[in-house]
Amino acid sequence: MVYLDANASEPLHPAARAAMLAALEQPGNPASIHGAGRAARRVLESARESLAARFHAAPGDLIFTSGATEADALAIHALGAGRPVLIGATEHDAVRAAAPGAVIIPVRQSGEVDLPTLEALLRTHENALVCLMSANNETGVLHPLADAASLCARYHALLHVDAVQTAGRVEIDYLALGAASFAVSAHKLGGPLGAGALICAAGLADHIKPLIAGGGQERGRRGGTPALPALAGFAAAAMVARPDLRAARERIEQAARACGALVMGEAAPRLGNTSCLALPGARGGVRAETQVIALDMAGFCVSAGSACSSGKVARSHVLAAMGYADHAGDAIRVSLPWNLRDGDVDQFIVAYRAMAERALRKPGDISSSPPVRAA
Ligand code: PLP
Repeated sequence: MVYLDANASEPLHPAARAAMLAALEQPGNPASIHGAGRAARRVLESARESLAARFHAAPGDLIFTSGATEADALAIHALGAGRPVLIGATEHDAVRAAAPGAVIIPVRQSGEVDLPTLEALLRTHENALVCLMSANNETGVLHPLADAASLCARYHALLHVDAVQTAGRVEIDYLALGAASFAVSAHKLGGPLGAGALICAAGLADHIKPLIAGGGQERGRRGGTPALPALAGFAAAAMVARPDLRAARERIEQAARACGALVMGEAAPRLGNTSCLALPGARGGVRAETQVIALDMAGFCVSAGSACSSGKVARSHVLAAMGYADHAGDAIRVSLPWNLRDGDVDQFIVAYRAMAERALRKPGDISSSPPVRAA
């Protein structure tokens, strides 16, 4: 199997596995005052210190969570209270669901936030909370965050950044840019599933209110016993430098274009590991799930749009917002993992070509064809 779905979840890094195994040997709850509890607390605080240093924040401003969905929700509930909330049109469901009724900031066809419209919205919505992702999970498109942050500062708005897809991949000092808070997730940077953090600018963490009242953990800002082994793995994974996968991605895109594919978001700066490939065809596009199933049968894991949602393949709101409603059901995402092996790209290109040839010859009937095996 060749795993090319890193934006859904990166493979676990050996450094994270080692840190988790060590933490699993550690008995005790970090809230207990006895020796074992104090030792567990040291593991927790050491993970906090490493992650805070990695993301240029103070340890006291980092709140551990179960992942970025919870971190986004914590930020929006607390920082958005009593303010108009503005969110980018291509935000992840983690943000969309936490901000029902939010004002939508449109994006340009490139996928980047439309700055003049953001400015116009900030003029009419005073003291807003603006939520923008650093990079889109489906297309890899990077928003012009520095420009958006300056506009927010000019109009006294708070900026929350969903930094899930750039954290550990692109060096951005979110707080120095002017963000009020940002969310990161362990499993998107080579750590385990089920751990994340909300990181706040100085003075703002104390405004965060727990979504579930509990035992006062995280200084009363997030209830529930922290998942110590997962957090130790999170900190270890965040320290590991990741390879630049741009050259591999370019080869895939070149081969896909030669088959008639369109690369969504290609006009914008993008994550080096992500390609969103639509396959239009003369008789209507080839459905994304048909492509995903055919590639899966050939031994390649890619995804259709956003993979986070309970196995369902929905039309992509991201592509629709970029003005590609016609392709919202026929684009797949190929996202290269940190442990991409020599030969994976060559094999994928062979399988993609075979899939595209069959699909374009006989639309809708490729999943029932014999599996396409890469050479
Ligand atoms: N934000 C973005 C951009 C994502 O891609 C994801 C997951 O795919 C999330 C938030 C949710 O993160 P988590 O799985 O840690 O809850």
